[in-house]
Amino acid sequence: MDLHTVVEVVSPAAVGQWRPGDAWLAGGTALFAEPQTDVTRLLDLVAAGWTPITVHGHGLEIAATCTVADLAGYAGAEHFTAFHELATACCRAFLASFKIWNVATVGGNLCAALPAGPMIALTAALDGECLIFGPDGERRLSVTRFVTGDGATALAAGELLRSITLPAAALTGRTAFRQGSLFAHGRSAVLLIGRRDGAGLVLTVTAATVRPFQLSFAEVPDAGELAAAVRATIPDDAYVDDVHGLPAWRRHLTARYAEEIRAELAG
Ligand SMILES: Cc1cc2nc3c(=O)[nH]c(=O)nc-3n(C[C@H](O)[C@H](O)[C@H](O)COP(=O)(O)OP(=O)(O)OC[C@H]3O[C@@H](n4cnc5c(N)ncnc54)[C@H](O)[C@@H]3O)c2cc1C
Repeated sequence: MDLHTVVEVVSPAAVGQWRPGDAWLAGGTALFAEPQTDVTRLLDLVAAGWTPITVHGHGLEIAATCTVADLAGYAGAEHFTAFHELATACCRAFLASFKIWNVATVGGNLCAALPAGPMIALTAALDGECLIFGPDGERRLSVTRFVTGDGATALAAGELLRSITLPAAALTGRTAFRQGSLFAHGRSAVLLIGRRDGAGLVLTVTAATVRPFQLSFAEVPDAGELAAAVRATIPDDAYVDDVHGLPAWRRHLTARYAEEIRAELAG
């Protein structure tokens, strides 16, 4: 939709330019989907031309402006098998047309902070760390702490998400993925990712909950331990209640998928 209150677009934008009434613009697929009556100026990040994906010795750095299409088509760093498996699954969980895939960005997905954000699931499950630029310098925050609620992030006014770094140690282990929706091609109502971490297990819960929850175990737990840990970690009021599923159903599927993942990765 047209944003009638916007009178200026700054392209490319830089962090020091932010003032009240501004909004960072990435792909625009969430920003232009709803009225933004407080926004008078857009600061275009895509025009900054950041390299979408960079391989470092310590892992992969995904620019905030990397599109879902860039991510889905990325064939480099073949040895990061866990990344490739999960990137494919999470891009497929992004139930949108190729038009959306070509412009929607990874950073925009994290910053929109919708519970069903598949890029949140991917980067949280792989221990992603956000690099945040702000008027007072830069800081780093894990993805699990960056997304704080349904539509809410840890970004302060004037701050932008520059990139997400996935550490190499998280990119090679075995993984398991489960996604549930009310109908075959529906938006994710529950999305769980499991990852073996040495002798241990890391389980990340998204979509069912208003923000990502992560459970880490030094060794693979038994079924009872896992079920108890899920109940203890995720409070009942953290389960999403909207047209894509009732909280009780999401809680039930979370427990079921958690056990399926445990059993799959225990072998
Ligand atoms: C048909 C359709 C299907 C969709 N399906 C899904 C889905 O399955 N799951 C889902 O989560 N979303 C879905 N969306 C919503 C949206 O497309 C995604 O969340 C997308 O990833 C947003 O990215 P974007 O680059 O378009 O962000 P934008 O719309 O440009 O920005 C979104 C918000 O984040 C802010 N922002 C963007 N980048 C930055 C940055 N680097 N730093 C600071 N702030 C920033 C913007 O100011 C804005 O508030 C869908 C949308 C459509 C139209």
